[in-house]
This record gives sequence, structure tokens and C-alpha cells, in this order.
Amino acid sequence: MKKSILFITVLILIISACDSDRSPEESTHQKVLLVSFDGFMNDYLDRNPTPNFDRMIASGVKAEHMIPVFPTKTFPNHYSQVTGLYVENHGIISNSFPDDSLNARFSYGPPEDSPNDERWWGGEPIWTTVEKQGKTAATMFWPGSEASINGIRPTKWKAYDGAVENYSRIDSMMNWLDPAGDVNADFATLYFSDVDSQGHSYGPNSPEVDGAVMQADSLLGYLWEQIEDNGLREKLNVIIVSDHGMAELSEEKVIFLDDMIDLDNVEMIDWSPVAMIEPDEGMEDEIYQALKQNEENYRVFLKEDLPDEYGFTDHYRIPEIIMIADVPYTISSRDYFDPGRLPAGMHGYDHQAPEMATIFMASGPAFPSGETVPAFSALNLYELMAHLLGLEPAKNDGELIDFR
Ligand code: AMP
Ligand code: ZN
Ligand code: ZN
Repeated sequence: MKKSILFITVLILIISACDSDRSPEESTHQKVLLVSFDGFMNDYLDRNPTPNFDRMIASGVKAEHMIPVFPTKTFPNHYSQVTGLYVENHGIISNSFPDDSLNARFSYGPPEDSPNDERWWGGEPIWTTVEKQGKTAATMFWPGSEASINGIRPTKWKAYDGAVENYSRIDSMMNWLDPAGDVNADFATLYFSDVDSQGHSYGPNSPEVDGAVMQADSLLGYLWEQIEDNGLREKLNVIIVSDHGMAELSEEKVIFLDDMIDLDNVEMIDWSPVAMIEPDEGMEDEIYQALKQNEENYRVFLKEDLPDEYGFTDHYRIPEIIMIADVPYTISSRDYFDPGRLPAGMHGYDHQAPEMATIFMASGPAFPSGETVPAFSALNLYELMAHLLGLEPAKNDGELIDFR
């Protein structure tokens, strides 16, 4: 608590020092751009020449790493970042899961295309906080941004299209952030998927991932060039994050569920690396005991026994039994498993696994330069962004971070 007060004081001092020659109204008008490079493991920064990441870190703050939320999948994490909520409090429990009460399955690709159906998304994302409090949000992709949540969408948003070229995402965003442009956005997002997709295809230790990291670095260089050219340097706080890291899989490291339980007695909500298992009526004890007795290379929990920091108990979409594979194990079945189909890299493991640790850095008028802060949870991003934008945050599970 004391730390938060100190942080606010420091922040106010920094903001007023930077804005001393502006009117009071303008001085509170800082913008925030939140950028995600999907699947950017924290270690990647040390493995490759990344001059633009280095320059940004030197001019701003960096966390030793950022701790994702559980499970370390793309949709749960991106949505926790923008709501400050544990997964149990927003309901996006994985990338793909059923909801019997909606008689539907959440999935991010066609044919379901559920991301634009508001019934899936709980909580209040930051763009809703922004719009509700009279400011303007613009998203060039973010999980949840395509849905009208509580009747509100960002003023500018785009249906996800992975084919939109990365540099042109930045060009469009510069137009939306431009004070002389048609929306003059206060809050904006950018999203890039290449580091994640190369990580899945070739594994985190591949030259292909190194290439994608260096491309991400060039993109970041271009972004800062555009920020300078558009005169946004003094107004815009840029926050770079990712949703999780990546682990290298092995076809030797597979846990076969059907060696331990009869799959006819359960509904599988999700498979790997976190198996989410709903036992048939009356079968819970038997299934749990069978998994508990064989507990090797994984841990199994009844959902109510998961420690609080998993934030993965109190939602009706979360099934009774949660089985978490140790990195880098895959959970599968004898019938389904085919080594040829196993990706080289995967994420989704325990949020505290070092391989799942991800990145946070920020630079702009509200941040000191050259500071490194201890690792913190992705849940804290929402409070930070609301604070930078001068907004009253909705109820959330995060806290304001001290950058000094
Ligand atoms: P994952 O399956 O966890 O590796 O998720 C990464 C993939 O999610 C990306 O490669 C995209 O195809 C997809 N994705 C990311 N953001 C969105 C979005 N807003 N809407 C639909 N799909 C998305
Ligand atoms: Zn991801
Ligand atoms: Zn991924």
C-alpha cells in the first residue's frame, strides 16, 4: 500500500515536471499505447541483438520479467492484461472451451468466430473504462476488442486479420493517435503474432525464432521513428508486453491420459498442457484418485484446491479437475497422439514456470529512464494504464506498481 502511494507521488512529480509549460488541462492528457508481441519469452531479449528494445529499455523502465496469469494461453492472458482480472473473474478460461448454458464453444477461428460475441467476455476491459469516462480508444487487434462488451466497443477497432501487414498496422495506428487525425485516440493497442507462430513451428531455441525476434526489434524501431515524426514523444506512453513464453516439446515427453482413466467417463474441456477434466456424475472421486496415484510429470488438483494465485476456481466454466503438465510434457491420448502433429513449441503451462515468463517495458513522459523493477503480475497492467490515463479503474485484481 505504502509503495503504491509512493509511486503515485513520484508519478505526479514526473508528470508535472514534464508538463510544466502546458496548460493544466493538457498536462493530464497523456496517451497510452499498449503493444503485444505474442509468445515473447523473457529470455529472447538476451539471446539476440535487439538494439531497438535496448534503446527503449534505456529510455524507460523494464521488469525483470512479467508473470502471466494461469493458464498461459493467449486469450486468457491478453484479456487479463486489459481487465486486471484473474481468469476466474472474466471467464475466458482457455483459447477454446465449451459453455453448455450458451450451447456453444468459444474458439478464435472460423467457423465459430466467437471473439465477437459479447456473451463470452466478463469484466470491464480498459477500452471500456476509457470510452465510459469520455476518452477515446482505438485497437489494432486485441483479444476481446471485437466484441461489444456491455454495449461498448473501442471507437476504432478491427476484426482480427492476421494477414494485415505489421508495418501497416503501425501506420494505421499513427493516424488514429494523431491529435490532428479523425479520432485522436487516448488509448490504443497493437498486436503482432509472428514470434509466437515461429515459436510453435520451430521451438523457442530455433534460428527462426531468433529471426522473428529481430524482426520484432525492427518493427519497434519503426514504431519509435513514427512516434518521433508525428510529434507524439512527449505525450505518448508506450507499454510493450507479451502474453507468455514458450517451451520446447519432445515426443518422448507425453502423458497418456487413457493409460490412467477411462475417457468415456469424462468430458475434456481442454487437453494440453493443462488438462481440464469434467468427470461424469458420480465419477469425480474415482477419476481424481486415479490421476493422483499416478502423479508423475504433472500435478493434479480439484479446482477448489488450486492455490489462490492461480485465480482459477470460481467460474462455472472451470471444470472439477485440473491437471497441469510439468514443462515440457504434453498431455494426450493413445488414439490421438501422433508425433508428426506435435508442434515444436508450446505454452499454457503453470504461470510460474520460468519458460512462461514474459516481457514488460515502458517508455514515455510518465516513466523514469533506465529503471529495472522486480517481476510483477500481468494483472497489474490495467491499474497502471487507468492511472496513466487519469481514469477511475473498475474493480480488479491488480495493484499499482512502484517504478522507483
Ligand atoms: P495461440 O493459439 O495461443 O498460439 O494464439 C496465437 C494466435 O491467436 C495468433 O497466431 C492468432 O492467429 C490468434 N489471435 C490473436 N489475437 C486474435 C484476435 N484478436 N482474434 C482472433 N484470433 C487472434
Ligand atoms: Zn499467445
Ligand atoms: Zn501460441
